[in-house]
Amino acid sequence: MNASVEPSLEAIAARQREVVQALMTVVPTHCLLYRAEDTAPYECDGLAAYRQLPLAVVLPETESQVQHVLQTCYRLNVPVVPRGAGTGLSGGAMPLRDGIVLSLARLKKIVNIDPYARTATVQPGVRNLAISEAAAPYGLYYAPDPSSQIACTIGGNVAENSGGVHCLKYGLTVHNVLRVRAVTMEGELVEFGSLGPDCAGLDLLAVLIGSEGMFAVVTEVTVRLIPKPQVAQVIMASFDDVVKGGDAVAAIIAAGIVPAGLEMMDKPATHAVEEFVQAGYDLDAQAILLCESDGTPEEVADEIVRMTAVLRAHGATRIQISRSETERLKFWSGRKNAFPAAGRISPDYYCMDGTVPRRAIGPLLARIAEMENQYGLRCMNVFHAGDGNMHPLILFNGNDPDEWRRAEAFGTQILEACVAFGGTLTGEHGVGIAKIDSMCVQFCAQERDAFLAVKRAFDPSGLLNPGKGIPTRARCAEYGRMRVHRGLLPHPELPRF
Ligand SMILES: Cc1cc2nc3c(=O)[nH]c(=O)nc-3n(C[C@H](O)[C@H](O)[C@H](O)COP(=O)(O)OP(=O)(O)OC[C@H]3O[C@@H](n4cnc5c(N)ncnc54)[C@H](O)[C@@H]3O)c2cc1C
Repeated sequence: MNASVEPSLEAIAARQREVVQALMTVVPTHCLLYRAEDTAPYECDGLAAYRQLPLAVVLPETESQVQHVLQTCYRLNVPVVPRGAGTGLSGGAMPLRDGIVLSLARLKKIVNIDPYARTATVQPGVRNLAISEAAAPYGLYYAPDPSSQIACTIGGNVAENSGGVHCLKYGLTVHNVLRVRAVTMEGELVEFGSLGPDCAGLDLLAVLIGSEGMFAVVTEVTVRLIPKPQVAQVIMASFDDVVKGGDAVAAIIAAGIVPAGLEMMDKPATHAVEEFVQAGYDLDAQAILLCESDGTPEEVADEIVRMTAVLRAHGATRIQISRSETERLKFWSGRKNAFPAAGRISPDYYCMDGTVPRRAIGPLLARIAEMENQYGLRCMNVFHAGDGNMHPLILFNGNDPDEWRRAEAFGTQILEACVAFGGTLTGEHGVGIAKIDSMCVQFCAQERDAFLAVKRAFDPSGLLNPGKGIPTRARCAEYGRMRVHRGLLPHPELPRF
């Protein structure tokens, strides 16, 4: 189907019949949904402002069924959108009207935990937290911990190169995955990476991780497990100014300390979560920092002393150090529940995800405060400060189209400010459809062509999650009508690529 021509309802129904009949020959009927009331739960991911019913949703139960589904779609020229738990925040798993959703949720076996090699091999639908739960009897765990870890799948984590509170010290998904099995759009099974310390040839594993379901469908993942630290302790530090808080973050890293977690929440965020979880946050503070140390008791004691000194030197007005595991979890509970707390104080929120160099955290927060006035919308900030990974949550009412329009423009301006400060459009949530236009601001035409060439090398037919992640030249030209001034991209002084 040609996306630019509106197909009639009859044409869509006929196409649906054709696709469903073909899929029925390769998966059992209980693995196939096509009535609107059955496919409705799949019409969006965590970016619920964008919705679309697909032609069908297929839930294969084996890797071989995944291969057959892809071969069938390839033969019939049907676009395929892979999906894990649908917690993505950039619309990566949003369906296409003329395509199917390929849910990997039923592939959820823990294939093997190897305590000697310290690895876990799991199917893509296994939840992030379930890996650590399975490894716990061996004193091991999987370190990358997105706040959504109770629900999100390892397949989605690989596709988004997900991060989390502890990724500052232990690395992102890309640093903790050893090997991936995946199926191409043509149905070919391919293995990336290896169980050995290194593998020959180009590092295509790193290319696949973060490719947002556009290169191949992940069917098995081997991750690195690490020993659980003996102890962990967290410092909660208050600041009377967000810029001072941002500077303290930069100072901790500059002092040669790599905390296990270094997170920041501004005043609107602490107020929202305190009502929700009663974590004991300082409600007078303009910002609070949560700085965690883990390791042996001696390492932790030493690091806590050093971090406390840096925080005091940078103007912390109050410092509390967790005295028990219960108290440590209590301090974190607000941070972990910040998104649900936003949902309680506003009918809708739009979560942005950009990065800036740590020294720019304070100035960016000041810019965001100005933008709140400009757009007449509130914003709360709760983010991975150690990584400079910002998560402004713009609060709005989705029933008011003008508020949604302003929220979108506000979000775009924040991301473009991140780029202007020398950062990036996305830290960990991916580009999806949410940031596809802003890609035209960060990357020039030649860079985007290079990305598209890599996409074509994996998926020459362009049927795997099309229209996500990488904008075409035409799309950028359209966006450029608004953004390009005298042929210059914004911030031409910034080095690109
Ligand atoms: C409350 C909340 C908190 C969050 N906190 C964090 C956080 O701290 N850090 C973070 O990084 N993210 C966070 N996220 C975002 C989200 O949880 C992650 O992006 C997560 O990795 C998505 O996993 P999923 O299984 O839900 O994937 P989905 O949303 O289903 O899909 C995400 C992308 O991956 C692709 N995909 C899914 N499975 C496969 C597969 N098997 N093969 C190929 N492609 C696939 C999809 O096509 C899509 O492009 C948060 C989301 C929420 C709602």
